[in-house]
Amino acid sequence: MINIEEFRQNGHKFVDWMSDYLENIADYPPKSQVNPGDIRQQIPLEAPNNSETIDTIFKDFKEIILPGMTHWQSPNFFAYFPGNGSYPSLLAEMLTATLGAQCMIWETSPAAAELEERMMEWLKDLMGIPSQMEGVIQDTASTATLCALLSAREDVTDWEINKHGFNHNLRVYASEHIHSSIDKAVKIAGIGHSNLVKVACDQNYALLPEELEKAIEQDLAAGKIPCCVVAGIGTTSTTAIDPLRPIGEICQKYNVWLHVDAAYAGTALALPEMRWICDGLEYADSLVFNPHKWMFTNFDCTAYFVKDTYKLLNTFEIMPEYLKTRVDSEVNNYRDWGIQLGRRFRALKLWFVLRNYGKEGIRTVLRNHINWAKKQEDRFEAHPDFEIMAPTPLNLVCFRYHPGGKLPMEELNKLNEKLLHELNETGKAYFTHTKLEGQYVIRWVMGNTYLEENHILAAWDLIQETAKSLS
Ligand SMILES: *Cc1c(COP(=O)(O)O)cnc(C)c1O
Repeated sequence: MINIEEFRQNGHKFVDWMSDYLENIADYPPKSQVNPGDIRQQIPLEAPNNSETIDTIFKDFKEIILPGMTHWQSPNFFAYFPGNGSYPSLLAEMLTATLGAQCMIWETSPAAAELEERMMEWLKDLMGIPSQMEGVIQDTASTATLCALLSAREDVTDWEINKHGFNHNLRVYASEHIHSSIDKAVKIAGIGHSNLVKVACDQNYALLPEELEKAIEQDLAAGKIPCCVVAGIGTTSTTAIDPLRPIGEICQKYNVWLHVDAAYAGTALALPEMRWICDGLEYADSLVFNPHKWMFTNFDCTAYFVKDTYKLLNTFEIMPEYLKTRVDSEVNNYRDWGIQLGRRFRALKLWFVLRNYGKEGIRTVLRNHINWAKKQEDRFEAHPDFEIMAPTPLNLVCFRYHPGGKLPMEELNKLNEKLLHELNETGKAYFTHTKLEGQYVIRWVMGNTYLEENHILAAWDLIQETAKSLS
């Protein structure tokens, strides 16, 4: 094992490598070009018996691992939603790993608990989140949504299920376009997947409130218990925006928990001119968004806000003797604000990001991304052989190639699938797809930390050339 001097030397070397990597990140193929098994077969079947040098391991990292990586930080990564880092975030992450603190209760690192509390207040101010909500950092939006469903489950059954288990017929409602983490959470929470009601959407892929109300009425008439509505602000396929205010009014009328999944799009609330996407947020019982997506804070960092912390704590609280401390009544012990006991010190990187960018710095980048997406949407619309497939409220453009405007759907689907794969195989850009009413659609997300307008223009040239070469 290396000693502290070798640790220091390798540390400097690694930071140099990290800087070179990020400086040249646009030159890496954003989508890894390897085949299944390519990497595994280069890794020995067993750990070595004796120590290997860091030099040897680092060499293998560069030669074996790196070619099998998808380069999420590349400005030519337009796939899924971004998993952004940034320079201040990475610097803080090194400190977090070095401190290696388990931030489960206040006493196990008072600064971590108190910084987390303050960072959640900073986000509330930055994003106009209702003042009565309180926040906590979680690992992922999936976990936060599961917490929301568990709290809603306990709230609607007066904490019966935590005590005695299940024999209730609870129902959860969300649009057809809601994220798969909601499907997963209803399974884990014991509610049952058949009790997730997928509500129909309008032509913009946003949930229809009147359909939601109908579904709730039907369930009540059948003796079922409406438990939770999940509204999507920025759905994964198209960043559709479910109308929060009418949904919130329905939730209030029927006394149903309202959880808002704004995992990606929530960051846009930092822009006052974009707050309309969450008009009606005061109705929400809980809200989740991911600074690890569009707020330049490296994975993982999810912000989860709840209106009533009592309900959250009463769902999760445990008080074994060995975790009791003298200050429990004066501080936040975040172990009871979520599922796991051990917690990483994630507030530190958020602090570095929010201070080093500043509120206005973050807003400038977000406005650029939204503006560039609008301009690209215009370019698609002006081109006779491309079409826009969904509204672009933020910075995800959904398009397809449609030469001549006459091909039937099946052929168009095949053509666009081929276009996507050819584009990704160039190693110059990475896109992913979705299907909207059976139609194959290419998604182009413009939210990367290191994105500049020239990357978009180059990708647009690549799309036109590649599409032309198909016919
Ligand atoms: C990314 C995403 C999620 C899941 O986020 P994780 O943090 O990876 O669990 C959930 N909902 C939406 C809308 C998303 O975009």
